[in-house]
Amino acid sequence: MGFREIEEEYQQMKYDYLVVGAGLFGAVFAEQAKSSGKRVLVIDKRSHVAGNVYTENIRGINVHKYGAHIFHTNNSDVWNYVQRFAGFNRYTNSPVANYHGELYSLPFNMYTFNKMWGVITPEQEAKIAKQCQEISGEPRNLEEQAISLVGRDIYEKLIKGYTQKQWGRPCNELPAFIIKRLPVRLTFDNNYFNALYQGIPVGGYTKLVENLLSGIEVKLETDYLEDKSYFDSLADKIVYTGAIDAYFDYSLGTLEYRSLRFENELVNVNNFQGNAVINYTDSDTPFTRIIEHKFFEFGDDLPYTIITREYSSEWKPGDEPYYPVNDEKNSSLYSEYKTMAEREEHIIFGGRLGEYKYYDMDQVIASALKTWKREL
Ligand code: FAD
Repeated sequence: MGFREIEEEYQQMKYDYLVVGAGLFGAVFAEQAKSSGKRVLVIDKRSHVAGNVYTENIRGINVHKYGAHIFHTNNSDVWNYVQRFAGFNRYTNSPVANYHGELYSLPFNMYTFNKMWGVITPEQEAKIAKQCQEISGEPRNLEEQAISLVGRDIYEKLIKGYTQKQWGRPCNELPAFIIKRLPVRLTFDNNYFNALYQGIPVGGYTKLVENLLSGIEVKLETDYLEDKSYFDSLADKIVYTGAIDAYFDYSLGTLEYRSLRFENELVNVNNFQGNAVINYTDSDTPFTRIIEHKFFEFGDDLPYTIITREYSSEWKPGDEPYYPVNDEKNSSLYSEYKTMAEREEHIIFGGRLGEYKYYDMDQVIASALKTWKREL
């Protein structure tokens, strides 16, 4: 057999895996399968790879198109794994809260308490504890839960308005379980995350995902659900990272999400707000936060900057899904879909949409690595 025939026969061979979705879950799974000598095809209905961590380079600034993403993890395996595909800078998330023009440190720490009450030593622990006593008994809603954790002053200025905007409902109508913990630090540490490792991939997340997918066939603007049986015929096994209810044609109903809307603006100043993330915690400002993308990276002296105002919005079918709503109704609907998914033997459902689960990036990477290990 000549080279050409071998090539033709190879082309007609089935793929071992068709990966639906070029987000982190799909890209990591594809990378692992390819590294083990498997033939993999990745498709995505969007016009770009990287899913929701996609960053677009606009005039030299990597803009986080689907919301600000900060990589943080305690998982050394995941950290070592991602280092193979990108260098990470030393970005440390230190968001600031703006309440009617008053600026506070987030998370709640000594700077916050100094601004709030003028205290200069950790003695205000007693002050918070006293305010928390306002709620006696089991908190009946998010407002009571927050007050019982951090007291009324912090709740009123830094939690109430922001949370209401996020969920589109008053805090006293939201369930208490949404807030489990509110970390309070009696130190001057402004680092939001308690993670061992933290940073932003140099050159943006898209570059990281492109490196994961290097040498793997990728077809963009290709929707698996538009011709499922054709795509199924291409591979022995499918890894599906799209929405699980969409896969089953919403036959049991639609899973709900909270959505977001982004307003991007190029501003002709070098420095708009001096920080990558500023949360607007009052209820009068319609957006929840402003992201200034250049501050995720270092060393630019561009005379302009790009900012994004982030609005939380009610989700309706057809909108971009962002945060799963893990209430009883949606959780039980998801379990029904999951039971149906378990019967589809040639399909692996993974990632935030396939498992209807909020995953941080490190968790979704860990989950894809584990899924591949199971395949082996
Ligand atoms: P996705 O990135 O959504 O990838 C799924 C892909 O499948 C998409 O590209 C989609 O187009 C494609 N697809 C779907 N259906 C089909 C179909 N029918 N045919 C073909 N393709 C299809 N995590 C952190 O660790 N730190 C953060 O700071 C952080 N910030 C976040 C901010 C926001 C606003 C949100 C919503 C999430 C944030 N996350 C953060 C979580 C992070 O975005 C997720 O962990 C990650 O994107 C999940 O990757 P995924 O591959 O599961 O999903």
